[in-house]
Amino acid sequence: MIEAGAKRDIRKLKLEELKEFFVAQGDKAFRAQQVYDWLWIKSAKTFEQMTNLSLETREMLKEYFVINHIKVDKMQRSADGTIKNAVTLFDGMVVESVLIPTEKRITACVSSQVGCSLACKFCATARLKRQRNLSPDEIYDQVVAIKEQAELFYGRPLTNIVFMGMGEPLLNYANVTSAIEKITNQKGLGMASRRITVSTVGVAKMIMKMADDGVKFNLAVSLHAAIDKTRSSIMPINDTNSLTELGEALKYWYQKTKSKVTYEYVVWKNINDSEEHAQALLRFCKLVPSKVNLIEYNPIDEGEFQQASDETLSMYMNLLERNGITCRIRKSRGKDIDAACGQLANKG
Ligand code: SAH
Repeated sequence: MIEAGAKRDIRKLKLEELKEFFVAQGDKAFRAQQVYDWLWIKSAKTFEQMTNLSLETREMLKEYFVINHIKVDKMQRSADGTIKNAVTLFDGMVVESVLIPTEKRITACVSSQVGCSLACKFCATARLKRQRNLSPDEIYDQVVAIKEQAELFYGRPLTNIVFMGMGEPLLNYANVTSAIEKITNQKGLGMASRRITVSTVGVAKMIMKMADDGVKFNLAVSLHAAIDKTRSSIMPINDTNSLTELGEALKYWYQKTKSKVTYEYVVWKNINDSEEHAQALLRFCKLVPSKVNLIEYNPIDEGEFQQASDETLSMYMNLLERNGITCRIRKSRGKDIDAACGQLANKG
């Protein structure tokens, strides 16, 4: 029974619960679907917008519920067209999300947690520590905000979504998959799963769970080193989640989903810029069908990490391509406004 007074966030209710609510109010169960369509297809931010409901019903909903929509408080635009949003959540916490335009695509890069618990040495978000998980509606709202910006500023639809903002999506798996369900459902934003990529540090047991769940979105793994000692020195998770375990999980993933894996990899001077590292990456790539994105390093510190030379990148690229592994060099976007990979740290 839902009582008036302590107002609940209506988007926390399942459709079934909302139906029960309307029936308990002496109304029809189908009213719930109408409200649900407003919330998840039309992304209504207020009850006033729900114009196919009577004024009375809208007033009644206001008595019982709130819609805790995120607020885009600050928007910065980069010279290259990238837009970074500082997003305030209902409890005042802030995350960032990014719109990345290219010729063919408009990609939304969204956050899944406030801060991050993983402590990767090269990432600015790691310094924020994990505060909490984002809820499904907070993730969904970031996508909607960027979808609206794509239409407003570029006159184009949002085409892709990457979970490469703040946080580790697989450590907030239930909420991330629930948001993706709303984003892909025809009774939601209706976007195709194959246009969504979840990027993870590589939590082995969660990759296996995803495989068991038969998820349809793409998987990207932030690898950065295929030699345990090196990977552990820059990504502490590797201490308890070794490359062997990761490799096994990825084999299981491929066996179940038949979906290629993308590895994200930064080459740093004196860390992983030797031929030995490139060979190790090649061996790792042979475990399952995969491709490699060599990401440009976005400096976040006083020089402990430095981007390797173009020659080193070519060495990696040639070795991989010669052995049939697709490899691309990904230039940073939005660097001038701290919107690039690893730079999201609520500087404002
Ligand atoms: N936790 C997830 C998603 C967030 S990070 C993950 O680890 O995949 C998104 C990508 O940016 C990851 O590939 C991450 O390794 C990379 N990244 C982090 N800091 C970076 C930096 N300073 N320069 C370039 N890429 C960085």
